[in-house]
Amino acid sequence: MGLIVQKYGGTSVGDVARIKNVASRVARWKGEGHSLAVVVSARSGVTNELIARAKEVKAQPSDRELDVLLAIGEQETIALLAMALHDIGVPAVSFTGAQAGIITDDVHTKARIRQFRPGRVAEMRKCLGRGEVVIVAGFQGETEDGRVTTLGRGGSDLSAIAIAHALGAESCQIYTDVDGVYTTDPRIVPGARKIPELSYEEMLEMASAGSKVMQARSVEFANKYGVRFEVRSSMNENPGTIVKEEDDGMEQVVVRGVSLDRNQAKVTVAGVPDRPGVAARLFGVLAAASVNVDMIVQNVSASGVTDISFTVSRDELAKARAAAEPLVREVGASGFSAREGIAKISVVGIGMRSHGGVAAGMFEALAAAGLNIQMISTSEIKISVIVDEANAEKGVRAVHDKFGLGG
Ligand code: ASP
Ligand code: MG
Repeated sequence: MGLIVQKYGGTSVGDVARIKNVASRVARWKGEGHSLAVVVSARSGVTNELIARAKEVKAQPSDRELDVLLAIGEQETIALLAMALHDIGVPAVSFTGAQAGIITDDVHTKARIRQFRPGRVAEMRKCLGRGEVVIVAGFQGETEDGRVTTLGRGGSDLSAIAIAHALGAESCQIYTDVDGVYTTDPRIVPGARKIPELSYEEMLEMASAGSKVMQARSVEFANKYGVRFEVRSSMNENPGTIVKEEDDGMEQVVVRGVSLDRNQAKVTVAGVPDRPGVAARLFGVLAAASVNVDMIVQNVSASGVTDISFTVSRDELAKARAAAEPLVREVGASGFSAREGIAKISVVGIGMRSHGGVAAGMFEALAAAGLNIQMISTSEIKISVIVDEANAEKGVRAVHDKFGLGG
């Protein structure tokens, strides 16, 4: 039987008992005759603790040193899981990201995987061939010249998809604390339903719209290389959600899900002179500072000046401010302001390509719930709006209801 890559997230390996639970699950799959490569996250909370500790030492720590620190979390888990497997008689060997041959670019704290060192992949294959379980630390790699890098928050998902691709795995299972992808967060809407299958594109839009289930970049990678995967729970045996290439049946459903992203901040640069090149400068400095800008709105200019608003994730607000504020003075804009109490609600579905009226339906539902829309953006298969954070859950419930997604 073929090779399975399994990825266990932070909650699934949250303490020693849970690590032992993962070991026995792995042993069971192995007992059925599969080869297994297992990718793990840090115990839940550990990465946050490490970041907090770094910030106690220095408010803006060096990204290079932060990566050295953050890589510890996953390294703890691979060693403990290997020991737990040994304890129940299963041969297993751990690999750090670098030992697994994962080479990244040098953008510390959110590096991209460039390639695998073939010699290291061969080494993992050799271990698998000897019947050993290969355990790989998620979220980390190294630059060509050997500096430790991490792959962005939630990056163990990316490690798993990339390892599945590099090893040519037969399947890739992403184990988490929910047993699949739901039409919306069941904590907000108890009647939310599990989605049996969705396309890479939908999963990607949901992930970038704030569905916490998987890291967006990992889905991008899966789409690019055609790595099918299944999201399932490490606490039960329920079938999960399969994410794969689009098929004909999928367009029947217009709206697949509703996502909520609270990790949003809105920046407004007011009184910007309306002339060619100003927006290019503004977003140029943000890009140079590696700030990801999401929505952008520019008002119609009256009297030669305009306001430009954009959204960034809250944790990048300080960086955005540091990059953009000097420019505000330089181009003669009148002000820079930032707001955190906002959230983004998105509806996603590939059926939107062939069905109209989704935007109208969404806006009607929000209006009926009394929500004011501050910004709107759309893609071919997604509509997102920014609303006040205080009303966001109410908005999600209204929109989920409107499209009949509940059980
Ligand atoms: N430990 C990392 C994080 O918390 C990576 C991961 O869990 O996927 O972001
Ligand atoms: Mg995760």
